[in-house]
Parts: sequence; C-alpha cells; structure tokens
Amino acid sequence: MTIRILIKGAVGRMGTNLVKTLAANPNTTLAYAVVHAQAPELGKSVPEFPELTYITDLKEATDFDVAIDFTSPSSTLETLAHCQKLGKPLVIGTTGLSNAEKEQIKAASKDIPIVFAANFSVGMNLMFKLVEKAAKVMGEYSDIEIIEAHHHHKVDAPSGTALALGEHICKALDRDLEQVAVKERNGLIGPRTKEEIGFSTIRAADVIGEHTVWFADIGERVELSHRVSDRITFARGAVHAALWLAQGQEANLYDMTNVLGLDKI
Ligand code: NAD
Repeated sequence: MTIRILIKGAVGRMGTNLVKTLAANPNTTLAYAVVHAQAPELGKSVPEFPELTYITDLKEATDFDVAIDFTSPSSTLETLAHCQKLGKPLVIGTTGLSNAEKEQIKAASKDIPIVFAANFSVGMNLMFKLVEKAAKVMGEYSDIEIIEAHHHHKVDAPSGTALALGEHICKALDRDLEQVAVKERNGLIGPRTKEEIGFSTIRAADVIGEHTVWFADIGERVELSHRVSDRITFARGAVHAALWLAQGQEANLYDMTNVLGLDKI
C-alpha cells in the first residue's frame, strides 16, 4: 500500500528534501505540497510529482494519510488544527515552539497520533541515549556544556536539539532544565555553579547541524559529538516516522525514540 503524504512547507530547505525522499521511496507518494501564500512556486507543478501543483490553502488538502510539517510555529499550529479536524496523523519537525504552543500539540495528541521530535536523525536519537548514560556516570561531579552550530538562516537559539540534549541530561540527573540552563554569558557573571548546564551557540554559513556535549572534570573530559552533513537524514527520519504512524498508532504524543524502538533499550 502506498502512503499518501501531505508536506507543509514543501519548498523550504527541509520541504524540498522531504519531497525528494517521498519520490525515492516506493512505499510513499506526495498527496499535497502546501506552500506559503507568498511563495513564487504557488500554482506551479512539483518537479518530482509533475501531476501535482503547489497549493497554499489547507482546506483543499483533505485526502491524505499523514501530514509532515517543518515550517514555523504559527504555521505548524494551523496544520495541527487541520489534522485534528480531519483525524489524520501528523509528524512535526518545527523547532522554536513556546511551552504554550507545545501544550497545544500535547492536547491535540489526545485526538490524533503525533510524532514531534527536535531531531529526526538516527544518530542524534542514539546520542540522546548516550548523554543520559554519561550523565548518570559523570553528571553529578562534572561541568556539563552543550555547544551547537547551525547555518546563518536559523531563527531560533539554542537549537531545539541542544535543548533536547539538555532535557535528556536533566532527566538522568533529576534536574529541571528551566532552572539550570544558562543560555547566555556576558560581563561579570561570577563563577560557574556546579548544577548549571551551559549552552553555546554558533551561527555560520551553511552548517546543517552540529552538537557537542562536554562532561568536564578536573583532569579529564568526555565529549560526545554529532554532525549532520546532509538534510536528507532528517527527511528520511521524518518519512520513516510517517510510515510508522500510518501503521495505525493510537492517538498519543510520540518522538523518534518511540519510532526507532530506542525507548526499549
Ligand atoms: P525553511 O525556512 O527553509 O523552510 C520553512 C518553509 O516553511 C518555508 O518555505 C516557508 O515559506 C514555509 N512556511 C512558513 N509558514 C508557512 C505557512 N503558513 N504555510 C505554508 N508554508 C509555510 O526552514 P527549514 O530549514 O526547512 O526548517 C524548518 C523548520 O524545521 C525549522 O523550525 C527548523 O528548525 C526545523 N528543523 C527541524 C529538524 C528536525 O530534525 N526536527 C531538522 C531541520 C530543521
């Protein structure tokens, strides 16, 4: 059976990779390519699926199996409402959502199955597990720092993935990230506290996504790093999540650790 997927943000950096991934996968096809009302591509045909044209009105998009959204927080909430109304599953990759916006996603997941992940790569989801282990061994006595780098177009900071790494570390150490995260350091700020988790942000050129976590003790340091060299890795992960949802998951909020079965290891 071919799974028919709606892509919201179809001409964005992630959207174009998602459309390519659907075209290359024999189990998937593009149902709708939804773009911003101002997109120059609106009304033109989709190169990989010439029988389809780019549309902007979600109301025209009702006949699909799963939606995938990598856009912006306000746009993602529109897609969320649309999928909730139709009872369709949704994969969300957008980052930079506020806590209130995340609560709306959680509330909608009572009605529809949703995969919402800060990072859809297999390697980063493995790294989430590795930082939990490292935190359990070294976290209580070492200084923990998270360094991330992304391309100069990225609008949110620290990255959703850096914050997710912080959440996984805090889960292992029974700390509250809101309380211990230090996202800026400037001026006479005094010495570092033992519990804090520092975030450093680099924005430069075309870097797709790099994250390093330090567990630093006096005399030694463990560094765990992950680097993405092609966005296609996120796109393949998101399509994998869509296929997993299409198998008939119950309404709930899932992440990639559920999709990949890493929650069981
Ligand atoms: P991008 O700016 O290249 O693409 C976003 C697209 O969404 C644009 O084409 C924009 O016009 C479109 N858009 C915005 N509002 C819209 C609306 N109302 N209707 C239709 N289209 C709309 O950005 P990107 O690099 O593709 O990233 C998109 C999001 O995905 C960001 O939040 C980014 O941080 C996130 N991201 C997540 C992962 C992950 O693994 N979770 C990986 C990469 C990027």
